[in-house]
Amino acid sequence: MAFQDHYAVLGVKPDASPEEIKRAYRRLAMETHPDRHPDDPAAEERFRRISTAYTVLSDPVKRARFNRARLMPEALELNQPITVATARDFFSSVVGDVFGRQRKQRRKGRDIRYTLSIELAEAVLGSEHEIQFEANGVCTTCKGGGTKPDGRPAEGCPICKGRGQVKGEGILGRWTTCGRCHGMGMVQVDPCGDCRGSGARREKRAFRVSVPMGTESGAERIVKGQGEPGRFGGPPGNLRVTININKHPFLSREGQDIVCELPVSVTEAVRGARVPVPTLTGSGIVKIPPGIGSGTRMRLRGKGVPRERGASGDQLVTVVIEVPRVAKNSALSQQGRDAINEALSQLERACEEHPQALPKRDAQRRSS
Ligand SMILES: [Zn+2]
Ligand SMILES: [Zn+2]
Repeated sequence: MAFQDHYAVLGVKPDASPEEIKRAYRRLAMETHPDRHPDDPAAEERFRRISTAYTVLSDPVKRARFNRARLMPEALELNQPITVATARDFFSSVVGDVFGRQRKQRRKGRDIRYTLSIELAEAVLGSEHEIQFEANGVCTTCKGGGTKPDGRPAEGCPICKGRGQVKGEGILGRWTTCGRCHGMGMVQVDPCGDCRGSGARREKRAFRVSVPMGTESGAERIVKGQGEPGRFGGPPGNLRVTININKHPFLSREGQDIVCELPVSVTEAVRGARVPVPTLTGSGIVKIPPGIGSGTRMRLRGKGVPRERGASGDQLVTVVIEVPRVAKNSALSQQGRDAINEALSQLERACEEHPQALPKRDAQRRSS
């Protein structure tokens, strides 16, 4: 650990008065406070150093010891740095809760989270849903204030003086949540009897959620101000509805398109066929041309994700030639197995007699 000259860190002369040192600390700590520079390790390190310097120089005994040690820096084992968390607490004890962030969060009502599971078509084409759940709503007796009607208003907590936290012994004593006000900094003098001063009551709540067309899984709909009520006049939280899309047995979404596989038999692939295929709105017909290869992609125009403006997406259908499963197929009866095997033998004999029907196989077999 390199030697830190606490006077230099605070930019004051070694004979500076306690007032000058405090002013320098306040100014520098305000500038470098982590609440002002979130995710900036350099500022955090400076803040920690400045705080360490002030914990030493603001204490007459430590300062005197530091003054002696400063003349022989190699003996400086008392140059112990403090952690950022301790530096923050120390800052609040000297300067006060200037950033005020924690208290605001305590008073705002909590958000309510709800997961709405819907079908793929409902998400892609847009839909309306009724949701119902039990959650904290505004207590009607006190209108959310938490004070008994005609009672005396809430006041600052006498134990923590409104800070919400109380400090332990000593200059670096730990701050803990105040037990009287539970960190709110406010207490009800005449709490509402129906909600015991919380301003909130458990109730059935119902909302209509509209899912716009083209919604993707994981999308969030926020209903402003419909979360849990705030405390002591704070704003309510929000209702956050996360959309979960149930897996469709055949269809899935790829950007603006809907994709699916279309299994066809060998015979259908050879002769061509008109085959029904599931779509978002029901079903469509795909015309398979004779002799189609496995993996061919067909396009159903306009059957994909619709758009407010511009062309809708398409449904992309990948043709998969399904080879009859005969071996190790417990669902197939012995009779079925025999019938298919017999037909396959006939097909194989015909193909060997007329190799032009399978030109690729024929070419490769003859060259190898
Ligand atoms: Zn109430
Ligand atoms: Zn308190």
